[in-house]
Amino acid sequence: MFSKTTIVENNLSDKELCLTFDDGPGIPSLIGNFGPKTLELAQYLHDQEIVATFFMVGKFIIKYPEITKKVSDLGHIIGHHTTTHPDLVKYWNAGHDLIPEFTKAEDLIKEYSHNRSIYFRPPHGQWNESICNHVNDQFKTNYNYLGPIGWNIDAGDWMYWSRIDFNSAAKCAEAYLKLIYTKRKGIILMHDSTANKKYLPSKFRKINNRTLDTIKLIVPRLKNDGFKFIGLDKIEFI
Ligand SMILES: [Zn+2]
Repeated sequence: MFSKTTIVENNLSDKELCLTFDDGPGIPSLIGNFGPKTLELAQYLHDQEIVATFFMVGKFIIKYPEITKKVSDLGHIIGHHTTTHPDLVKYWNAGHDLIPEFTKAEDLIKEYSHNRSIYFRPPHGQWNESICNHVNDQFKTNYNYLGPIGWNIDAGDWMYWSRIDFNSAAKCAEAYLKLIYTKRKGIILMHDSTANKKYLPSKFRKINNRTLDTIKLIVPRLKNDGFKFIGLDKIEFI
């Protein structure tokens, strides 16, 4: 059953962090090795003994099923981020059928992950009570759903990927670290790819994604300062 309100960091202790990555899976460009690196990111975190959650979009799981499977094999959680990544509130208000946004993505997660429960995050965090009631009523599933899962630490990583800037990872890491040191615990939102190019000005390009580089800058530093990274499955949700 989905909750009416978004779950944030409720039961985390001081210096506990959960890493979540939205909008993948994605792959780098063939030339230059730039852009989304979902698999490399999952491998790096695995090597660091960190379990992260990748809130994947069904249409990209269809494109990169092997990556999805490998991310799950590496012990990460594959989260549900709908089938096509619409703003559910706008979609619902426009009279669209929401259920395929749940069923198709679920089928893919079922096929390519080891998940027993499914963590759900609506695109752009858009959710309301009427959508919740409708989905709880009409979406037939055997899975235990948890969510919507929100976040409380978001320095807007995607804004740093707006242009070719080889210092963007350092700037982005600095912004996240500042927030993390202020909040001291929580669910961190980052993006390992880009789902809706139409929502972004044309200057935003997947190819500028530096999420892996950013993570490589912040993880060792935070570990050194006594922060612990825990999987969403280690949080007791009410
Ligand atoms: Zn998203």
